[in-house]
Amino acid sequence: MRYLVTGGAGFIGSHYVRGLLAGHYADDVDAVHVLDKLTYAGNLANLSSVSDDRRFSFAVGDICDGDLLEEVIPGHDVVVNFAAETHVDRSISGPQDFVVTNVVGTQSLLDACRRHEIARIVHIGTDEVYGSIDVGSWTEDSPLLPNSPYAASKAAGELLVRAYHRTYGLPVSSTRCSNNYGPYQYPEKVIPLFVTNLIDGLQVPLYGDGLNVRDWLHVDDHCRGIQIVVERGEAGAAYNIGGGEELTNRELTARILARMGREWNDWVRPVDDRLGHDRRYSVDDSRIRALGYHPRNGFAEGLDETIRWYQDNESWWRPLKES
Ligand code: NAD
Repeated sequence: MRYLVTGGAGFIGSHYVRGLLAGHYADDVDAVHVLDKLTYAGNLANLSSVSDDRRFSFAVGDICDGDLLEEVIPGHDVVVNFAAETHVDRSISGPQDFVVTNVVGTQSLLDACRRHEIARIVHIGTDEVYGSIDVGSWTEDSPLLPNSPYAASKAAGELLVRAYHRTYGLPVSSTRCSNNYGPYQYPEKVIPLFVTNLIDGLQVPLYGDGLNVRDWLHVDDHCRGIQIVVERGEAGAAYNIGGGEELTNRELTARILARMGREWNDWVRPVDDRLGHDRRYSVDDSRIRALGYHPRNGFAEGLDETIRWYQDNESWWRPLKES
C-alpha cells in the first residue's frame, strides 16, 4: 500500500509515519510520502529517523494548493490527513489561519482525492468539535457544538468530510480523538510546556481553577486507532478514540510535579482562564472498540516515559522553545 500522510511532520502525523515504516501498524507498507507545509509546528527532525528508509519521501507544501495536490495525490492507495492548525490559544488570538487550513485545506484535499479516485481517506478530527459535556460521554451521533475558533474550524472540516461522502461517495472516514500526549509534541501544549518549564526552573501557568477535565490518550494508541479506521472503518462514519484516563488539569499538574519532585506552592502560577474554556471532554469510543481498538498505554507509565523523553531530548525542544 502507498500512503500519503499530510501534516506528517507534526506531533501525531510523524508518530504515525515512524510507526508505519517500523511495521507497527501494518505489514504491507510499500511507500509513505509526507506532504507538510512546515509551519512553526512542523519539524523535519521528527522524521530524521526514517529519512534513509527507501520507502519514505517528503515534500514541502500546503494542502490548500490545488495545483500541487494534482501532482502529489495520484498513485496513492491511502491518504491520511493530519495537516491542521492545532493550538486553541493561537486560534483565539488569530482565527483566520485555522479557517484557511482546517476548512479550505480540507476541502481542497478532499476534492483532489475525489478527482484521483483515492480508495481510502481518513481525516483526523478532534473531540473538541462536540463542545463541553458536564456528565456522561459523547457518541459519534452527538451534535457538533464547538466553542473555540479551533474547534469550529475542525467541525467545519468534518462537515465537509461528511458532505464529500454523501454527495460524491468519497470513501472517507473521520476520527475524533481526545487529548494526545507523548514524545515530539510541540512545547506549547500543556504536558511538554509544563515539563520543559520545570526543567528550566520556571513555574507552570495553570488556567483558572484548574478543574477542566481532559481525557488523555497516548499518541501511539491514537495511531493504532487510526490504522484500524484506515483498514476496517466504514466510509462516511466518524470514530471517537479515547484514552480512558480523565483528569482535571489540577490532577495532571500534581502528577507532573510529583514526578519531577516539585512542590505545588512554589511551582504553580495560577493565570486567567482561557476565553471560552471548555469544562470537560469525554468520548464514548465503543464504535471503534467494536473494531478491536483498546488503548494499551496506561497513563502513569506513559507520562513517566514522556517526561523522561523531554529530559533526555533537550536538543529537540530547546530551539523550539527559544523561537
Ligand atoms: P501539530 O500542530 O503538531 O502538527 C500539524 C502539522 O500540520 C504540522 O507539521 C504543520 O506543519 C502541518 N500543517 C499545518 N498547516 C498545513 C497546511 N496548510 N498544509 C500542509 N501541512 C500543514 O498537530 P498534531 O497535534 O500532530 O495534530 C494532528 C491532527 O490531530 C490535527 O488535525 C489535530 O486537529 C488533531 N488532534 C490533535 C490532538 C492533540 O492532542 N494533539 C487532539 C485531537 C485531535
